[in-house]
Amino acid sequence: MSSTREGGQSTEIMDFSYTDAQESFRDELRVWLEENLPDGWLDGERELPSDDDERLAFLRDWQRTLADGDWAGIHWPEAYGGRGASLVEQTIYREEMARVNAPPQVNVIGINLVGPTLIEAGTEEQKSRFVPNILSGEEIWCQGYSEPEAGSDVASLTTRAERNGDEWVINGQKIWTSYAHNADWCLLVTRTDSSGEKHEGLTVLLVDMSQEGVETDPIHQANDDRSFNQVYLNDATTTSDLVLGEVDEGWDIVMTLSAYEHAMTSIYTIEQRYLDLLEYCKTETRGGTPLIEKPEIRQQLADFDARIQAAKVSHYRNVSKQIETGRPGPEGSMDLVVSDELRIDLLNFAVDVQGPATSLWENGDAAFDETTGYLRSYGSWIAAGTGDIQRNIIGERVLGLPKDKKSKMSHRSE
Ligand SMILES: Cc1cc2nc3c(=O)[nH]c(=O)nc-3n(C[C@H](O)[C@H](O)[C@H](O)COP(=O)(O)OP(=O)(O)OC[C@H]3O[C@@H](n4cnc5c(N)ncnc54)[C@H](O)[C@@H]3O)c2cc1C
Repeated sequence: MSSTREGGQSTEIMDFSYTDAQESFRDELRVWLEENLPDGWLDGERELPSDDDERLAFLRDWQRTLADGDWAGIHWPEAYGGRGASLVEQTIYREEMARVNAPPQVNVIGINLVGPTLIEAGTEEQKSRFVPNILSGEEIWCQGYSEPEAGSDVASLTTRAERNGDEWVINGQKIWTSYAHNADWCLLVTRTDSSGEKHEGLTVLLVDMSQEGVETDPIHQANDDRSFNQVYLNDATTTSDLVLGEVDEGWDIVMTLSAYEHAMTSIYTIEQRYLDLLEYCKTETRGGTPLIEKPEIRQQLADFDARIQAAKVSHYRNVSKQIETGRPGPEGSMDLVVSDELRIDLLNFAVDVQGPATSLWENGDAAFDETTGYLRSYGSWIAAGTGDIQRNIIGERVLGLPKDKKSKMSHRSE
């Protein structure tokens, strides 16, 4: 940031340009993407295989390719196979991945949530056992927090773990567990003591998903996807060396992981969707007139552009704060709530603009698939803690407002 003086008035000017070193980082990533994205990807052949097994194999391959190129977990410390990338480099990485609409990371929960939490709180044995296989996608992870009666208020969960010699025996049910049907391991939050406050007596266990006592049942979603699951635990077991953190003090781990979860902005993929829509409006016509020339469409596009630029600037401010403190803070909730609501509005508008073509659910020739994205966007508003919960966090922890007395203890807001 630099300061100028004009007509006796001092003006602060933010400098958003990147340094030469940061631009070299971008160039290195661009070259790597050109050489390593799946064949045809950069020419627009971006269809993922429709068969579940083939899609999983494709995404595992992509995860391995990223890991081989050291581009899987760039924010991880170098000692654990990451690049120790700065927050600005992480921003550039997100921009570039969004620009090419890169395939998703199949181990998204492992890379962004479980890995960093294990590195921060795991034992040396746990780290050397699990961390390398997370980056390569060799072992996929899921996050076992929510239960039918415990979502926003996760501290009220009831899945029980009881000690039996050197083992923990687990009984209960989780729900909405993303990718559990593909997962090899779960970071599972359990109740091990019910005698105190509800956020006390929780223990986080690392649980093998392939054992007989774990059953997953995918939930069929409105967009025809089956990406999250009910997970039933019937005498499932894990060993005592696979407790993450301290017994009965799992709340600390819950909070650590949630901070990483709230730091995952998606503003760059939203911006790319906007740019795709803009392109569509420039090339498509209605009644002989290009869409972009219709005043009601131009106005909406301009409004979205302004909202996206404002969201990015707000994200930069949050990144600056994180650079100062060294940890993701409650400001991540601002990025989440702004992005999630922007995504819903943008995709709603995109569906309107596209008109009847969006109803061609299968085998349609829609220029871009916004219907499934639109239907999925409501889930994003809920997934890492709902927009309401993010607002609670902003109110209480960013703005310092008094705590909502009616609000119960929540992993998302406490
Ligand atoms: C796409 C998707 C993926 C998910 N993936 C996972 C996963 O991998 N692992 C996992 O454990 N969970 C996952 N979840 C579950 C998610 O964390 C919960 O759905 C979420 O925390 C909300 O909980 P709930 O559904 O029980 O709703 P509830 O907590 O019952 O909330 C119902 C309504 O009440 C509002 N509300 C509740 N408490 C308050 C409050 N204190 N103040 C104001 N309003 C409030 C909420 O905003 C909401 O509108 C996923 C959910 C989705 C949609």
